[in-house]
Amino acid sequence: MTPSQITLLGATGSIGSSTLDVVARHPGSYQIYALTANTSVDAMAGLCLKWQPKFAVMFETDAAETLEKRLQADGSNTRVLSGEAGLLQVVEDQNVDCVVAAIVGAAGLVPSLAAAKAGKRVLLANKEALVMSGKLFMDTARDNDAILMPVDSEHNAIFQCMPDCLTQHHSSVKMTNQQVNAGIEKILLTASGGPFRSFTADQLEHVTPEQAVNHPNWDMGKKISVDSATLMNKGLELIEAYWLFDMDIANIEVVIHPQSVIHSMVSYSDGSVLAQMGNPDMRTPIAHALAWPERIVSGVEPLDIFEVAKLDFEKPDLERFPCLGLCYRAIGMGGTATIVLNAANEIAVEAFLNEQIGFTDIARLIEQTLDKADISDKVDSLAAIQAADVMARQICNDCIAEILRAQ
Ligand code: NAD
Ligand code: MG
Repeated sequence: MTPSQITLLGATGSIGSSTLDVVARHPGSYQIYALTANTSVDAMAGLCLKWQPKFAVMFETDAAETLEKRLQADGSNTRVLSGEAGLLQVVEDQNVDCVVAAIVGAAGLVPSLAAAKAGKRVLLANKEALVMSGKLFMDTARDNDAILMPVDSEHNAIFQCMPDCLTQHHSSVKMTNQQVNAGIEKILLTASGGPFRSFTADQLEHVTPEQAVNHPNWDMGKKISVDSATLMNKGLELIEAYWLFDMDIANIEVVIHPQSVIHSMVSYSDGSVLAQMGNPDMRTPIAHALAWPERIVSGVEPLDIFEVAKLDFEKPDLERFPCLGLCYRAIGMGGTATIVLNAANEIAVEAFLNEQIGFTDIARLIEQTLDKADISDKVDSLAAIQAADVMARQICNDCIAEILRAQ
């Protein structure tokens, strides 16, 4: 069997390195065709020398030039590309079978959507791309026979707990029995609750970026760590599940489960509740998404159920964590509202990480942006989606400028 050729978008990130760890265990089955990153030349140079990909893409032109010089000096044959054009080239390349979409934020939308359009096997970690493009993304994947595999641990768990007849719509395998009564009643989307699960409203006012990026169970990039602390991550995942599994939002319930052992559940009409469990390590969903319908070794330690001993479940507190409520609100508003929400969150999280605003200002800014933005029904093209994103960023930046002026 010829190895599957992989383009890894966001190679220098947390999901990028977990993916490379899994791939390294199966050199006969998977090969790295292209690696991409934003600006981190040192990290990319190291990865290119180790993996010898055919292409490396740096989003920033200056970084691409520096990387090219470094690789030439080291006698590497890797070709260096840059910008959106470079990303699109390594996604659409005919030799590529699988695209791992692990860029963080809206920056990943164009290449992730292009991977779906090119009919690739798409391992989707970049939830923001789906939150922004929802129906367009799902339609594009289906119309072009892409195999859409969720990497987000909760969505991967849900996928694993769904009956085969429904998960096959993620693949080029045509559904043979669309009328089957699968009896799915509910998705139970689990959340760790983040590092501030038991903080009071007053304590939340004073948390620092350093505390917020320190997640109790998962080791992740900065943006998603802050999202986990505000529960925005769970809200984005709610929207992600809504699109991926075509579920009524009323039938997706968020469950706080501090141990992060159950990664999500599906509840059926006969009373069965199926859960997927495992140690909190992204190599499990990545390995599953790479190999499905087969299973491969991921390097993750087997779960010691006796050491876990106890599983707790609580309802989320929308008062202390208003970001989750804002996600419900945005879904209810429809149209471009989830794009506006996502854009405002990205701007607010960056401002928080730069110590310009406080932790609880994140939710306030998202709410203000949702209030001020013109929400449109036009979400059927990339241009319309990008326009809503740009408009929301502008509104949110103006709100931040107001906060800074008042200080
Ligand atoms: P990260 O910050 O560790 O890495 C992000 C990657 O994207 C880096 O390689 C960076 O170079 C690249 N990148 C950033 N901005 C870019 C730009 N403008 N253009 C091109 N490339 C750019 O992030 P992460 O934690 O690996 O998360 C990646 C995605 O996966 C996010 O959407 C996140 O929500 C999702 N996700 C992550 C985890 C996790 O455990 N880390 C779990 C579930 C889902
Ligand atoms: Mg997740």
